[in-house]
Amino acid sequence: MKPEPFRIKVVEEIDLPNKAERERLIKKAGYNVFQLKIDEIYIDLLTDSGTSAMSDRQWAAMITTKQAYAGSNSYYQLEKAVKDLFGFKYFVLVHQGRAGEHLLFSSLVKPGEIVPNNSHFDTTQANVRLVGGLPKDFAAKDAYNPSKTAPFKGNMDLEKLEEFVGKNRDKIALIMTTITNNAVGGQPVAMENIRQTSQIARKYKRLFFIDACRVAENAYFIKTREKGYKNKNIKAIIREIFSYADGCTFSGKKDALTNIGGLVGMNSKRVFEKIRSMQVITEGFPTYGGMACRDLASMARGLQESTRESYLEYRHEQINYLWEKLSKAGVPIVNPVGGHAVFIDGKKFFSHLPQEQYPSQTLAVELYIESGVRGVELGTSCFGEIDEKTGKLILPKLDLLRLAIPRRTYTANHLAYVAESVIKVYKRRRKVRGLKRVYAPLLLGHFLARFELEN
Ligand SMILES: *Cc1c(COP(=O)(O)O)cnc(C)c1O
Repeated sequence: MKPEPFRIKVVEEIDLPNKAERERLIKKAGYNVFQLKIDEIYIDLLTDSGTSAMSDRQWAAMITTKQAYAGSNSYYQLEKAVKDLFGFKYFVLVHQGRAGEHLLFSSLVKPGEIVPNNSHFDTTQANVRLVGGLPKDFAAKDAYNPSKTAPFKGNMDLEKLEEFVGKNRDKIALIMTTITNNAVGGQPVAMENIRQTSQIARKYKRLFFIDACRVAENAYFIKTREKGYKNKNIKAIIREIFSYADGCTFSGKKDALTNIGGLVGMNSKRVFEKIRSMQVITEGFPTYGGMACRDLASMARGLQESTRESYLEYRHEQINYLWEKLSKAGVPIVNPVGGHAVFIDGKKFFSHLPQEQYPSQTLAVELYIESGVRGVELGTSCFGEIDEKTGKLILPKLDLLRLAIPRRTYTANHLAYVAESVIKVYKRRRKVRGLKRVYAPLLLGHFLARFELEN
């Protein structure tokens, strides 16, 4: 593995609370790692969202930009970076991805209308529902088989999509595809799959939007795994991806290497004007869109850095390093390695626990107690819905623990410690008890849920 393509100029100290302390803290948090405080955590793999380390040039840009309600210079820097990379005719800034989702769906989705997607992310699903729409997933079959290796497991199931769209055309508000496909393990989507999804949307005259949070990482997979792209540069691949779409939602907190921010891109003037008028009411004036101008400056620079090939290669190798260590130790993980995280199959890890006892949530708790490392459950607590008629929990197909790797933040040594800690829990897995959920709000319940130990 090549060493990190950067030197460290500023450091942040971290402390590991002792084991008795960790046991006390996680109990107090209702066995929900979202309720832990950052100073109670040694290595934080909760998310790769908004946790990137920024470069000296990003910080410099943040200091030198002028703060202005209207017409900030950082807006024009960002406009240039966005036009250069995304290629859509219009864009609207928002404070983070989900605000963009909300503006998009309130403009395009009427109550009862359907949004097909390869897999909705949790905030996307919640935002479709919030305006009365119905999110529907069409992930390729392989996506639900964690151990199977295939190069583009994030793909849309094109046959099912076309059949569904053909039958329900008038009820479909827009079609989306999420790259990389976060909900099924950060797996990439092939260019060919994006192109064909776009063709289906055009055939049935529906708009096609890309949830592009990790477009640079997805582009790197296209370059390294899809035929015909080896000699194309990342920017050209990204532009090709967007050329098939009518627009996108984008969270600056992921691939743009910044701590906050987002945008909605689109080609339709009508959609643009609708969204922009709402933006002014809920996010702010168009040249700052819910952000401080310094955030726009860091995003403008971050967008450029995120497409550097040496950076993307390092990023991929780092995640692969953790994935390989766990894979070699026989820990059940999602194959092959994905974009921004390593995902552990909680159901297989704790094969003695029924899914109703939240195996991946249990693993998040055990890993914290073992090592002070925080991962996050993407499974029964996050995606399980309550049946309105019976009040029973509908179990999602996958129950995963995600170890998301913040960009440029941790070294290989940190990740070696993470791997060792997971392996220690794996060795004592049969002695571990599951959890029962004692509280959860209706939408995005996993953030605030509370659990108790099963007897
Ligand atoms: C993070 C994320 C979002 C939402 O973005 P925020 O900036 O967190 O609001 C939407 N879709 C996907 C796939 C994401 O990973």
